[in-house]
Amino acid sequence: MRKVAELHEGKAKIIYSTPDEDQLIVYYKDDTTAGDGAKRAQIQGKGPLNLKISTYFFELLAENGVKTHYLETLNDREMLVRKVEIIPLEVVVRNIAAGSIAKRLGFPEGEKLPRTVVEFYYKDDSLGDPLVNRHHVLVLGAASCEEMDKLEEQALLVNSILEPHLLEKDLILVDFKLEFGRTKDGEILLADEISPDTCRFWDRQSREKLDKDRFRRDMGGVAEAYEEVYRRLSEK
Ligand code: ADP
Ligand code: UDP
Repeated sequence: MRKVAELHEGKAKIIYSTPDEDQLIVYYKDDTTAGDGAKRAQIQGKGPLNLKISTYFFELLAENGVKTHYLETLNDREMLVRKVEIIPLEVVVRNIAAGSIAKRLGFPEGEKLPRTVVEFYYKDDSLGDPLVNRHHVLVLGAASCEEMDKLEEQALLVNSILEPHLLEKDLILVDFKLEFGRTKDGEILLADEISPDTCRFWDRQSREKLDKDRFRRDMGGVAEAYEEVYRRLSEK
């Protein structure tokens, strides 16, 4: 499959059309941003690592019955996917308090939450991707009640597959963000990416951060951490 035209250049990926109107090519860039684009850098080799890690997770999820946009990995930066109309919600699942929930609700970072939390954020850079509740989602017209139920159920299913799988690789799945979309037949598919850019992974013993927080918090060793996540995933 070949690229036809650039449709969208985002912060971390570029989306291209293909000769098949139902398929897109996602190109994974080395660019990284934080604070809604306020902080930017290039992390050499990040794109290929995120592509390999996302491929691994999409294949694992498909084997476990999750419907995803993933079709094929074409080369070290490009993935062929099914085209969807992205539902403008970031669906965040949290097992352990970190980042914004620690700040907003006062849970100490690193504390296991009494139960798994699912949150919706409205995908709108100009508004800073605000946290929204079900009423907000409805008045924004972002998704229906049935769709929100489905997103929550799928997000929890993804968590129930990934969390124990990662623990076997000595990785704690602290939290993660998912995006979903609608096909033209109205089917809901898991889309976008699943990588250390969109998940928090901690080492099981040392609790060392092996994800984008190393960039957000100027800790260094970003590419090395992503490499370590991929090494553990690909180890039998
Ligand atoms: P952003 O646009 O937020 O800066 P990215 O750089 O990750 O983010 O760009 C990828 C864009 O492609 C995102 O807007 C994402 O919602 C969208 N996208 C991901 N998967 C699909 C898909 N299967 N069909 C259509 N759009 C997709
Ligand atoms: N996340 C993401 N994209 C975003 C915001 C958050 O992928 O635009 C991921 C983030 O990597 C983490 C989870 O969602 O795994 C929860 O992020 P949080 O709300 O704590 O935001 P932060 O404080 O990191 O900006």
